[in-house]
Amino acid sequence: MATMNGQTLMLVRLYCSDGTIGVGEATTIGGLAYGAESPEGMKLAIDTYFAPLLIGSDASRVPALMAKLNKAIKDNRFAKCAVETALFDALGHRTGLPLSQLLGGRVRDSLPVAWTLASGDTAKDIDEAERMLAQRRHNIFKLKIGRRAVADDVAHVGAIKKALGERGAVRVDVNMAWSELEAQRGLAALADVGCELVEQPVASADALARLKGRFPIAVMADESLIGPASAFALAQVAGADVFAIKTEQSGGLQAAQQVAAIADAAGIELYGGTMLEGSVGTIAAAHVFATFRHLQWGTELFGPLLLTEEILAQPLRYQDFQLAVPNTPGLGIALDEDRVRFFRRDKKQGAAVAVA
Ligand code: MN
Repeated sequence: MATMNGQTLMLVRLYCSDGTIGVGEATTIGGLAYGAESPEGMKLAIDTYFAPLLIGSDASRVPALMAKLNKAIKDNRFAKCAVETALFDALGHRTGLPLSQLLGGRVRDSLPVAWTLASGDTAKDIDEAERMLAQRRHNIFKLKIGRRAVADDVAHVGAIKKALGERGAVRVDVNMAWSELEAQRGLAALADVGCELVEQPVASADALARLKGRFPIAVMADESLIGPASAFALAQVAGADVFAIKTEQSGGLQAAQQVAAIADAAGIELYGGTMLEGSVGTIAAAHVFATFRHLQWGTELFGPLLLTEEILAQPLRYQDFQLAVPNTPGLGIALDEDRVRFFRRDKKQGAAVAVA
């Protein structure tokens, strides 16, 4: 999809008149490679358009504030997610409750985390999977395929599944690269080599619906899901076995919960997706996914593990194939202010949004 040698995190810091501070993050994949929002564009939108709508409002009324923002500002789903995260983080500090409790209550304290093998080199990917299994960090592996001929991709997937056996689950993400006919051949062959799930093999939701149920392999929607309305449309045509829910793509934390509710009602299973957020956005998503009644396919909340730099005082806890969801107020994290200052592009210490 994109080769990234660096990552720009867009962090929002929200100052409230009672002294509470909330943080949120919105981050994109490869600048503008995946969607219409970029870190620089989001900062501009928040400073110029979001902040004036927030100043003077009651920061504890998060749904009302989000409704106000949604009415005045079209799209900008990622930026909205960052602002909503900061509002909930501040509310958590104000009330002493973790985000997952503010979002209705958690049903789990940790989340399984898959790992992506994307080198395309079979031997290299097997080595990497073996390292992850030995470290007890990941035992679910998602392979990015779709660039080569279907038969070559299937051979690559089959070889990796054969090497890992029952020790590791193997799934693929085609990122819409196949035609419907290629997908018919691909899904049949992938099921034969022990691949358990295929993510967005084709672009069209109708084609997804036609593929679902034809082969003994789960079909998951990712790019087709851009918030509750799209989730409802997809559920109406029974377009997927599984939804990959992303908080930013959904347009916020509560919007992601609405997508989950639609899936539950339609008998569609759930997976917690990532936009490769850093620690702040990742743990916000973790709080949301911890509230899902069903999370049959785990998550891929590995964004922070791809980064070589840490901006938290205490890194997120990944162990025994799971990410721990903090139980302290708000997001349950603390920024390492020196590191944040160091990475700021303008090297300033300025304020972001003030809410009275
Ligand atoms: Mn995907």
